[in-house]
Amino acid sequence: MASPTLRDVGETALTEAGTAGIATAGTAEPPRRPALSPSRASDFKQCPLLYRFRAIDRLPETPSRAQVRGTVVHAALERLYRLPAGDRVPQAAVDLVSPVWTDLLDAAPELGEMFDGADDPELQEWLESAGMLLQGYFQLEDPRRLEPEACELLLEAELGSGVLLRGYVDRLDVAPGGQIRVVDYKTGAAPREFAEIRALFQMKFYALALLRSRGVVPTQLRLIYLADQESLTYQPELAELERFEQTLDAIWTAILRAGRTGDFRPSPSRMCEWCSHKAICPAFDGTPPAYPGWPAEPPSAPVETPTQSLLDHAE
Ligand code: SF4
Repeated sequence: MASPTLRDVGETALTEAGTAGIATAGTAEPPRRPALSPSRASDFKQCPLLYRFRAIDRLPETPSRAQVRGTVVHAALERLYRLPAGDRVPQAAVDLVSPVWTDLLDAAPELGEMFDGADDPELQEWLESAGMLLQGYFQLEDPRRLEPEACELLLEAELGSGVLLRGYVDRLDVAPGGQIRVVDYKTGAAPREFAEIRALFQMKFYALALLRSRGVVPTQLRLIYLADQESLTYQPELAELERFEQTLDAIWTAILRAGRTGDFRPSPSRMCEWCSHKAICPAFDGTPPAYPGWPAEPPSAPVETPTQSLLDHAE
């Protein structure tokens, strides 16, 4: 299923607005070199077989309503920040839900199959629930008082080992004094303890990418849980990011090793409950397809399937 990514929607809107394309950390064009993304690194850490299914087999995953709603909410927030500061009020955010959903449907009409036609009352409820998440956002931040450097920012950085990191941050705030804050919105349905582990991993990934691309340790990493109307703030330290760099090097080395041998082992956990590939997982008496072999180009962020990208945003 070829679902649109949040970036697809964002890029379309940026083009329509006549503004520049998505800002990147020093690159104007989407880079092509193989890279490690936070989602796939996290997948491998959680379960090497899940990584294989997603990054190498690239098996399709059907997003749930909650996951697509996450994409809608992220895109609406991105568009909200393109409005003049004074216009960023709750109703403006709610009003963005419908056009964002329309754009998603234009890009991937199959998403409409989640509902029984445009008149399905569940569709209306679902759209309203997206609006409620957006309204809840205003309990945590006042977007009229913020002027982000970028939303949906593509970060790319090379580690000392040569491993290339690549990922999108939801929002980057830079204070006049140069202090950087990375902001990530969460709308997901995974249990909080798992979501937090994965989210912190992702945030450290971004912090390291910023450290290596801009030479600055971000002052603050902020996770905004829209459903709970809570936020979690974290202050990374240089030594911690240096240790994290070694972790990422080790993960990439392990991915390359498993890629050569095809030995991607299942690692069952409570997260299996949310895995789309349980039926073909040996940990649940399933049989995976034959290993297709290591791709000619190692898996990288740009070759992730659009659906995976969409799912990543809904975490
Ligand atoms: S069901 Fe669990 S063990 Fe199997 S691939 Fe999915 S996450 Fe891994």
